[in-house]
Amino acid sequence: MENRLKWLSRSMREPEEKTMNRKKKTIRSAGGQRRWRRTIEEVVVGNHLRATDLCEGKRRSYIDNGMLPTGGGETYWNNWVPIKLNIFIWRLRLNSLPTRANLSYRGILLDSILCPVCSAMIESIDHLFFGYSELIDLWNRVALWWGVHVPQHLSIDSLLFWSNSFSWRSGQRKVFDAVIMTTLWCIWNFRNSILFGTELPMKSIIFDEMVKNSYFWVVNRCSKANIGWTNWLHNLVSACKLL
Ligand SMILES: [Zn+2]
Repeated sequence: MENRLKWLSRSMREPEEKTMNRKKKTIRSAGGQRRWRRTIEEVVVGNHLRATDLCEGKRRSYIDNGMLPTGGGETYWNNWVPIKLNIFIWRLRLNSLPTRANLSYRGILLDSILCPVCSAMIESIDHLFFGYSELIDLWNRVALWWGVHVPQHLSIDSLLFWSNSFSWRSGQRKVFDAVIMTTLWCIWNFRNSILFGTELPMKSIIFDEMVKNSYFWVVNRCSKANIGWTNWLHNLVSACKLL
């Protein structure tokens, strides 16, 4: 019985190994150790480029240009919020978050591509972050908190670069940017709670979570941000003037 099982497992492995042998070339490192390397033909799918056709640098840029998404504009990074938030914003600006519209566009079959919050519109990035009335109210509330006006044309970049239109100190601007990033993050979490959570969250939780999380992150990451909770809630603009 044991021999039979061994034979079965060997026969099941064999086709896979044969395929692998066709796809891979063996190379030897300086120490003589055998290792496998993927050929360029496997990486550049659907093309007839051979490994010897291009030098190393050109091969790398060929693959990068063909396979990596390109994002226009300057890199957006704020070290007063966690890295996960910066990566989230990077993906958001590349339009690579798994919204229903994006998943459908990439060929994934879904029951519905409508927004899980209002079920009235396709769940695109624009709709998800500022496309329905409660979200406009949310952005107005953020603006009111900071004593500013909401950008005339709402877009991801107009929100992320909103602070450029104010003549503020750099620290003040950085706190504001952190607040905007956290707001976008909380909207995404709210949407995920609706889709995957055990109970339906209230929309008002987005603003409350944003105020709480942005405070926690900024105060813990910026040594100069000696801002009390009460000032954070009621005198934030004045409290940030010293930064
Ligand atoms: Zn909606």
